[in-house]
Amino acid sequence: MEMGKPVTGAAVFEAEAKPDGNFEEIAKNVKACMQCGTCTGSCSSSVAMDLTPRQLWRMVQAGMKKEIFDSRTFWLCSSCYLCTLRCPRGLPLTETMAALKRAAVSEGLSRDRKSPAFYTSFMDSVRKYGRVREAEMMAVYFMRVRNPAVPMKFTALGIKLMGKGKISPKVPRFGPGKLDRLFRKIEELEARS
Ligand code: SF4
Ligand code: SF4
Repeated sequence: MEMGKPVTGAAVFEAEAKPDGNFEEIAKNVKACMQCGTCTGSCSSSVAMDLTPRQLWRMVQAGMKKEIFDSRTFWLCSSCYLCTLRCPRGLPLTETMAALKRAAVSEGLSRDRKSPAFYTSFMDSVRKYGRVREAEMMAVYFMRVRNPAVPMKFTALGIKLMGKGKISPKVPRFGPGKLDRLFRKIEELEARS
């Protein structure tokens, strides 16, 4: 990644993407999955997923790339790490969910346009502020999805949260992100591994 250029979540994903071979690298993470289902039983998001984590790992093992990236399962992973902690094989499941998100964005594989836009906007905000600034993040997300129906769905909730002081619009910050150095270091380490 070029120094001095504004860093966006999309740029991070592009930098991390390993052309081709990326999916095979991801698949190696779950090669030893024995389908015990502990990950699914531990996952509080699994009720909302179209494939359970266990099913997803089986499809990753089988190389069913289309079915995997058509699914919303990995987008719904909240990175709680419970499955990783409990997997009897000690597999890096949370990291693998994140790797699928990055691959979906960098390779444009997701059928769902909103989830990559949301994830990229979320990561941009974390990198910029060290936390999520909800109002700004949602504004960026709305611009990315380019569908006026999406912001309309959130208007009532936004007004309610603002009324309760849960979110407040702030002047956007420009220039280098607070966590740029940390993100770059991780990218360097990942590139070496
Ligand atoms: S807990 Fe581990 S071994 Fe069991 S199904 Fe999930 S990934 Fe596979
Ligand atoms: S890290 Fe993701 S997949 Fe694993 S239990 Fe938490 S939400 Fe579910």
